Amino acid sequence: MTKHIFVTGGVVSSLGKGLTSASIGMLLERRGLRVRMQKFDPYLNVDPGTMSPYQHGEVYVLDDGAETDLDLGHYERFTHAPLNRDCNYTTGKIYLSVIEKERQGKYKGKTVQVIPHITNEIKNCINKLVTPDVDVVITEIGGTVGDIEGMPYFEAIRQFALDVGKSNCLFVHLTLVPYLKAAGELKTKPTQHSVMELRKIGIQPDLLICRTEKEIPESDCEKIALFCNVERRAVIEEKDKEFSIYEVPLGFADKKVDELIAAKLGLVLTQPLVIEDWRAMLDRMRHPLHEVTIGFVGKYVKHRDAYKSVYESLDHAGITHQSKVRVLRIDSEKLAVDGAPKALAGVDGLLVPGGFDSRGIEGKIEAIRFARENGLPFFGICLGLQCATIEFARNVVGLAEANSTEFSKATPHPVVCLMEEQENLTHLGGTQRLGSYPCLLTAGSRAQQAYGTDIVYERHRHRYEVNNAYRDRLAAAGLRFSGTSPDGLLVEAIELPTHPWFVAVQCHPEFKSKPTSPHPLFREFVGASLRNRFGKKDEAIRTRLTVGV
Ligand code: GLN
Repeated sequence: MTKHIFVTGGVVSSLGKGLTSASIGMLLERRGLRVRMQKFDPYLNVDPGTMSPYQHGEVYVLDDGAETDLDLGHYERFTHAPLNRDCNYTTGKIYLSVIEKERQGKYKGKTVQVIPHITNEIKNCINKLVTPDVDVVITEIGGTVGDIEGMPYFEAIRQFALDVGKSNCLFVHLTLVPYLKAAGELKTKPTQHSVMELRKIGIQPDLLICRTEKEIPESDCEKIALFCNVERRAVIEEKDKEFSIYEVPLGFADKKVDELIAAKLGLVLTQPLVIEDWRAMLDRMRHPLHEVTIGFVGKYVKHRDAYKSVYESLDHAGITHQSKVRVLRIDSEKLAVDGAPKALAGVDGLLVPGGFDSRGIEGKIEAIRFARENGLPFFGICLGLQCATIEFARNVVGLAEANSTEFSKATPHPVVCLMEEQENLTHLGGTQRLGSYPCLLTAGSRAQQAYGTDIVYERHRHRYEVNNAYRDRLAAAGLRFSGTSPDGLLVEAIELPTHPWFVAVQCHPEFKSKPTSPHPLFREFVGASLRNRFGKKDEAIRTRLTVGV
């Protein structure tokens, strides 16, 4: 019998329900359970694919091409749970499905209502993850208890517990225990109110995870337990992690949250908890031997979540090299004004991530030119590859007006252009080249050496491609097409063999990096940036970095 864990939040948003869910998933998985993860987002967009990164942060892409919430990135970085488009639902997606069924006459003339039709649809979505090989499904409900738009989800999970039996479900509620400076004490009242809100709609939490900046005294834990009707041992303090998000599961492990959950759900834990690799990873992070600065030129650099997985991947690469990766976030529009030499002064490598629209493009191209001409390690991702192609066409091949048709419809040299099947699309949602595609790597190329294999599968999210009509001219001038689709028709990776490290890819490798197994391209890019930094100074360190730390 599959067991269910529902993770809800109260008091304020942004408490880290995603990290909490992922950390619980990680511990249970390491105790031998087969875990699946899922998130419900209560907004009306059908998926985050059409939302601005300012609104929503990064759009996290899965193998099957689903455009999902960035919390699914945490799920993948912390667990091995396979994710697909059934792992992220929004209210828009749920309603769309119900309304489509209504139009097809599937409700046989009945009045279609939130209860039972929307709630049934939500319950079906939970059940989609239930298969005989799954021990636990962890379902995270976005938003905060009491939000009007979240109501159908809370009602659905209340019903779900009745359907499958309360003993098969566990309600985990994440709250905040704020510290009031003026009073000099922690306050439990917001948690009490939040749980009251839950109980009003028929949900009694089994486990309370209390986020706090200070240690919660025993008397307060007892008070929370008493007023919220939960066992004392089920009130778990979660102190803010100042150092890294990867500490969260260790905090839960110390408090034996895995055993508590197993006891409450009647789960048999078949393996001892082995997390030495995770501890070792954090140790390396805590004690860096070197430091390296990456210039990160993008459009949404002010928004921390807009490139979440790219920042995480840089951290993962830093862990391998036992180095602190400092990211200097540079607004591409500002770079165009300041000039590359000033904006990139002191950086050891340049990363240009993905993006859309023409804003800030010239700044990115200028930064890439600087990296190419000055031997600065460069890593381009998606739009980063397209900008590198434009830069090379303009400044090396001599096609001064080369551009992408995304930025200039009238360019005489469309070195990056729209794929044919994208030409006549009118719908925006889910219509890009999305999800996992194979890529063949050229033997001996930097990309192939980094991966250590000839064929790789990476995730995509883009509409434009390098224009094949210009490939010969670009190649003749020294640009190497080091990765293509198996039929050779789509450019997947480019590099400059004469440059210390200049590699760009059309895919998004950041979606496949984990803290304990960094993505090979990020690893090599950060390695090259370290060599660039120390190569000039210290031969001993340089040698060590060349052979790999
Ligand atoms: N805007 C470009 C395209 O659609 C790049 C997309 C991206 O970087 N994700 O092809």
